Amino acid sequence: AKQGIEADGVAFYSQDMNQGMHERMRIESGLRQALGNGQLLLHYQPKFSIQDGTIIGAEALVRWQHPERGMVPPAEFIPLAEATGLVVQVGEWVLEQACAQAQAWKRAGLRPIRLAVNVSAREFTQALPGRVQETLRRYGLEPSWLELEITESTLMHNIDRVIGIMDRITALGVALSLDDFGTGYSSLSYLKRFPIDTLKIDRSFTTGIPTDANDCAIASTIISIAQQLKHRVIAEGVETVEQLAFLKSAGCNEVQGYLYSRPLPAAEFERAVREKWTVGVKAA
Ligand code: C2E
Ligand code: MG
Ligand code: MG
Ligand code: MG
Repeated sequence: AKQGIEADGVAFYSQDMNQGMHERMRIESGLRQALGNGQLLLHYQPKFSIQDGTIIGAEALVRWQHPERGMVPPAEFIPLAEATGLVVQVGEWVLEQACAQAQAWKRAGLRPIRLAVNVSAREFTQALPGRVQETLRRYGLEPSWLELEITESTLMHNIDRVIGIMDRITALGVALSLDDFGTGYSSLSYLKRFPIDTLKIDRSFTTGIPTDANDCAIASTIISIAQQLKHRVIAEGVETVEQLAFLKSAGCNEVQGYLYSRPLPAAEFERAVREKWTVGVKAA
């Protein structure tokens, strides 16, 4: 009987795997086409200064406008693109598109806005600083228009090599932020060596504020570490005024989240800047 169960189990498992593989191949070839077909687009989520409430930047977030499936969120294709390496081409497209948009905004007289682009570990190579520099030059952009968000997984490989790449990027004047901070494995002893501007408190911690004492403690501690290391600190996933109030009193510099804005199509983000959207909270 045991054999039967195992045989069934194996049969079921391999069929499952087969389906998984087909699904992956389907998504991968679709994504390859999407890159050439203009099916990818960027949305821009405002980042607000807590101090004066104004928009200080935006995070560019990729979407896949699929002809049948509608708007596909990055969670459904970025992990796969990372596994296959296709994320490098996606990343090239995203940087190109974000800079083209920044140039359009600059020409339209919009005040300077720092656009943050997410960069996967696989894109974080010796070729990246040169590509960033060349792209900024081609679009006639000052480096202050751009920021790169990297995650702790990027920092786990060859630390000296990674720091060398980071140094070359910051030497251009392009800011680096450490995304989803606290969810990965980076060690505090390395943190002091990274030439980063900003720590980004992960949404999983923001969510528990102000009711979960542990999340409050973690968020406060990250803010304190950032202050000590002379980094800026932003909280992502801010959805309530209570969270904003807590973060403000804890000394957080910036916020990003559904409370004030979801990621927006380019035209709507531009309107948000022109209409001077602000976040605000009464002093605690
Ligand atoms: P991330 O870089 O941590 O981006 C933040 C995610 O949180 C975004 O999801 C954003 O829409 C979402 N978010 C922001 N505020 C709130 C909030 O208040 N509540 C909730 N529930 N969610 C909020 P999105 O756009 O689905 O992106 C998911 C992830 O996909 C990103 O996480 C990032 O890791 C990856 N990603 C997105 N665009 C790119 C890209 O161009 N390149 C790369 N390599 N990865 C990307
Ligand atoms: Mg990000
Ligand atoms: Mg994040
Ligand atoms: Mg996150």
